[in-house]
Amino acid sequence: MIQLYIPLNFLGVIYREIKQSLTDLDKMFTLMDKEREVADAPGAQPLAGLDQPTVRFEGVVFAYDPKGGRTILQGISFEIPAGKTVAVVGPSGSGKSTLARLLFRFYDIQQGRITIAGQEIRSVTQASVRQAIGIVPQDTVLFNDTVAYNIAYGRPGASQDEIESAARAARIHDFIASAPKGYATTVGERGLKLSGGEKQRVAIARTLLKNPPILIFDEATSALDSANERAIQAELQGVAQNKTTLVIAHRLSTVVDAHEILVMDTGRIIERGTHAQLLALGGRYASMWSLQQEGPPESPAAPSP
Ligand code: ATP
Repeated sequence: MIQLYIPLNFLGVIYREIKQSLTDLDKMFTLMDKEREVADAPGAQPLAGLDQPTVRFEGVVFAYDPKGGRTILQGISFEIPAGKTVAVVGPSGSGKSTLARLLFRFYDIQQGRITIAGQEIRSVTQASVRQAIGIVPQDTVLFNDTVAYNIAYGRPGASQDEIESAARAARIHDFIASAPKGYATTVGERGLKLSGGEKQRVAIARTLLKNPPILIFDEATSALDSANERAIQAELQGVAQNKTTLVIAHRLSTVVDAHEILVMDTGRIIERGTHAQLLALGGRYASMWSLQQEGPPESPAAPSP
């Protein structure tokens, strides 16, 4: 029996390895496809003036399928002054994450302009735009490699000390240090399994290491437990200090301190202002806020006998 078990078990290992490699390849091709959708303009120069990187969207119109597809953004204009935070809220599908993808230049827009420090992102090198921006995404993709590799991905060539100090700042160091091989522990299916919150902390550590002047936080839709959520929010606020930041928010508690809040609906900005201004307006934001204060509806009371 054992003679049969060992080869079968071995086959299982090979199968998982191949499956994982295919998953990684698939992710890589998805990214490469996106790369191919935009190209550097002839003679494009790198972005300059990154000490004061104001971000501006001016009349942005966008459809994922430019040949007659649905228009997802219908003339969006806003500014994130250098070092400030702008938050975007609105129902699912309203176009919030699309703003982030366009700023990173995964796609080119059909009308309008997106500028960083006064330079249109279409006119400068794609690599310099991506170098200037750090993204903490909803679902962090971790490579089937060591924790150290996954953090250093933010800045290849970073030293062990730099990796550890980024992990400490993202409050994931103690967790990593307690794993059997510490930073050399492999993550993924056959290694260290990370929760949603832990993965996000790895993404924060990556971003801290990259230290870009512009940040995008795409908040997780899946609810973390509230202690974890508060801790991550505090860490994100620390990272965002003095950086030009776009927050795609799914919970209003994250946006209260933003320089400006944009309320989106079906590709348009329907309200905008600070938290206090939007509450005073008594419109969509104010009703979203009061709904969120009430919390989830209570379970119906048991019928009286
Ligand atoms: P959520 O809060 O659920 O993350 P969102 O406001 O961020 O939603 P987006 O992800 O920006 O919404 O999507 C806006 C619209 O664009 C949706 O209707 C979505 O179906 C569509 N969309 C998103 N990505 C693509 C894509 N790659 N190709 C075609 N349509 C897309």
